[in-house]
Amino acid sequence: MRALTDLTDTELGEAVREAGGQPFQARQLAHWLWKHAVDDYAAMQNVPQRLRQALAAKHPVRAATIVKQDLAEDGTEKLLLRLADGETVECVVIPDGDRTTLCISTQVGCPVGCVFCASGMFGVRRNLRTGEIVEQVLVARARLDGNRPLTNLVVMGMGEPMLNLDHLLPALQRLHDPGGLNIGARRITVSTSGYPRQMERFAAADPSYNLAVSLHAANDELRRRLVPTATHPVREIIAAAHRYFGLKGREVTYEVVLLEGVNDRPVDAAHLIAAIGRLPCTINLIPWNPVAEITKARGLRRPATARVDGFAEALRQGGLKVTVRRQRGADRSAACGQLRLREAPPPGACAAPDDQRT
Ligand code: SAH
Ligand code: SF4
Repeated sequence: MRALTDLTDTELGEAVREAGGQPFQARQLAHWLWKHAVDDYAAMQNVPQRLRQALAAKHPVRAATIVKQDLAEDGTEKLLLRLADGETVECVVIPDGDRTTLCISTQVGCPVGCVFCASGMFGVRRNLRTGEIVEQVLVARARLDGNRPLTNLVVMGMGEPMLNLDHLLPALQRLHDPGGLNIGARRITVSTSGYPRQMERFAAADPSYNLAVSLHAANDELRRRLVPTATHPVREIIAAAHRYFGLKGREVTYEVVLLEGVNDRPVDAAHLIAAIGRLPCTINLIPWNPVAEITKARGLRRPATARVDGFAEALRQGGLKVTVRRQRGADRSAACGQLRLREAPPPGACAAPDDQRT
């Protein structure tokens, strides 16, 4: 059964008509769903009981429920959501001064399999549906008190957004739409591990969202070790990112997760400088958040602060604009995918379907 949150406006109108309702009642329902964020038919006071009952027989209001919350000392809160089929996904609320950012997921697991990432450890189980993506925002917003509005949205949770554009684009539309959740497109950032063809499609979407590209290394051989399913050369990824910039007038952010002795050496800085040159962008360095299982299996380590600073300085000397991400939620499992790993481990490795390998 599809939840109401998963229906397009046209489909909602259709569902209301089939349940014996009028077009204005579909608009009332939409108001309850997106403006009042209700999760229960009982709360939809101006919708006749008969109509509610007829709709409820076919559509639950929502698909997800919170099964676990994990609040870190710095206020970062991870939520584990259970979906209708029993799968679980994470989203993370990150308060920071006046800003409150929500990090949302697009897939259950991830097919890309980056060697340092908890989300990719067991492959992908399935794409999230549009409603399941939107619900992460509804659920997280309901947990914030009135004085702390959600200011930013980052699509940097579990999964590779470019491999689920069919559901992500309508979800972003709903989140951005003034009749929906009304989040400004400039406050929405989507992160990808680099799929040039899908980035073109993302670029064609209106409005213009921010794009972040997880580069990690500018040397093809090293990048393939870190992102084993990456089939596109670094220069193609960079070219696609800058076409995005040209089209949207947005500056691309390149993310580099730093692993000690692996991609934080002077030669790695030199490769980044050579590959990016004078293109307008920012490099965001992310010291790796250790995942115990990965440290044990692969011996990866987070570099010391001095090493991170040295790497940042080398990039700056080469003319690049650099930021370093502060660690958040450090006292808990901060990187996305870890709460699910601990609380609801997937039953086993799961191969990526063919269409996830483009
Ligand atoms: N799949 C997309 C978006 C989700 S991952 C992508 O890879 O861009 C979002 C960001 O978190 C990526 O830059 C990824 O490299 C980073 N990341 C994943 N695991 C991490 C970890 N353990 N520590 C630090 N950053 C991590
Ligand atoms: Fe997937 Fe992103 Fe994790 Fe890589 S870093 S496995 S692309 S979620």
